[in-house]
Amino acid sequence: MDVAVIGSGFGGLGAAIRLRQAGVTNVSIFERAHDLGGTWRDNTYPGCRCDVASNLYSFSFAPNPKWTNTYSYQPEIWRYLQDVADEYQLRPLIKYDHDVLDVSFDESSKQWRLTTSQGDYDARCVILATGGLAEPRLPAIEGLDTFDGPIMHTAQWDDAVELSGKRVGVIGTGASAVQTVPQIAPIVSTLEVFQRTPSWILPHLGHPVIERTKKVFSTLPLAQRLVRAWGYWRRELMVLGFVKDPRRMTKAETMSREHLERQIKDESLREKLTPLYRLGCKRVLISNDFYPAFARDNVTLVTDAITSIEAKGVRTSDGTLHECDVLIMATGFFVTDNPMATKVHGATGETLSNAYHGNLANYKGTTFPDFPNFFMLGGPNTALGHSSIIFMLESQLNYVTKAVRVALDDDALIEPKAHIAARWTRELQAKLPGTVWDMGCSSWYLNDAGVNTTIWPDFTFKFRTATRHFDPRDHKISTSKKSEVS
Ligand code: NAP
Repeated sequence: MDVAVIGSGFGGLGAAIRLRQAGVTNVSIFERAHDLGGTWRDNTYPGCRCDVASNLYSFSFAPNPKWTNTYSYQPEIWRYLQDVADEYQLRPLIKYDHDVLDVSFDESSKQWRLTTSQGDYDARCVILATGGLAEPRLPAIEGLDTFDGPIMHTAQWDDAVELSGKRVGVIGTGASAVQTVPQIAPIVSTLEVFQRTPSWILPHLGHPVIERTKKVFSTLPLAQRLVRAWGYWRRELMVLGFVKDPRRMTKAETMSREHLERQIKDESLREKLTPLYRLGCKRVLISNDFYPAFARDNVTLVTDAITSIEAKGVRTSDGTLHECDVLIMATGFFVTDNPMATKVHGATGETLSNAYHGNLANYKGTTFPDFPNFFMLGGPNTALGHSSIIFMLESQLNYVTKAVRVALDDDALIEPKAHIAARWTRELQAKLPGTVWDMGCSSWYLNDAGVNTTIWPDFTFKFRTATRHFDPRDHKISTSKKSEVS
């Protein structure tokens, strides 16, 4: 095939659409699951919702005038992706139940060899679109495998696990936990929430969309585009605090503290829920119902450190055994240590995971020296703390589709020049000191060495500008006609 796309979430579907618009049709999408949708297919835990407004959290070329809430819930976003796949007739391209086990560049054929659970495939170009939030992380807590009852990661929710009337423990207080805790609190018998670090939480402004608005968006698409643009630019202003001067976060911190004070009257509980790091250092959360859940008699916040998990429950540092029937792991994902990256081998045999550990330079978070005709969506330092990842994916696709076009038209192998990629990576890293992610908290934005290899540290329109074109001068382009064009 000309292009193998791995993953059928926003990135993979967006890639297939943009490639087709660029005239590239010999494309297959490899999907390990039974259905498309990526993280929005997998995360079915109660309350799962996007914390970016619906109008912005969608493809610019496929607005949805029918969003029922200004901040969509998971089922509606998943439905949206299915509708997009239908509208653009992408389903025939998808190879379901194909788990990609290895992606290696073959020097002799000058192609990529994909080893999958259903056989091998060769492709001239590969677009890796597996996303950063695809591999659930279970924490390395001693005794985890000795627990007697069901253990469920939020991204692997199993409706068959009975929660009603059970003693439930939730480990973690990040984005997934704050959404699911209020939903399950009313049905369980007791709920103990194990918090290691409190999150900054701001009021949620989401609300249902009235019929008249939907009608206006349907008949006057420009109106929806304006709302999207308004939301985009308001979010861009946040970069001033995140990147340029984190002291600007003080105002949002005050808002968050007031939110906490309004919702939690108990002073000692409030203290436990108050973060001691700069707002933005970890992902900022929005919720109106997480704090109130602790007002329920059956919900307890546990802040003593977890020392082990035993057959009957969770042991904490004060010696208490918190007995549970079910454990829910809201413990996030492998991001900088995503297993998928270890499965990709470039022309020298080096793995892609080096890109997250300072040993492999990247160009615009998308391409890598010695990885010819290989493109990564959502690559190093392209995730966002303040806006929509879809904006970033679409930016990357501007560059990717143009590069793929050249690779196919000229029968060429394209990769960024090593010194150009090194410069991009160096200059990007030079922007990080002094940003909000450099304020001493731990987060999934940082790799093992504490370096932010995840978040884009600037305005997103600058990334859009950087990825607008394919610049041949920045690339090594080898063709069968000429060994090296540029
Ligand atoms: P997360 O933000 O990585 O949170 C993981 C939580 O688990 C943290 O509270 C962490 O504590 C805790 N934890 C991890 N290991 C632990 C251990 N050994 N002992 C005790 N606690 C432990 O994961 P997430 O909530 O699934 O969210 C991940 C990302 O997915 C989000 O940041 C967001 O980008 C995305 N997401 C978005 C939405 C949305 O749009 N609303 C919803 C869900 C997820 P520490 O903080 O101390 O590490």
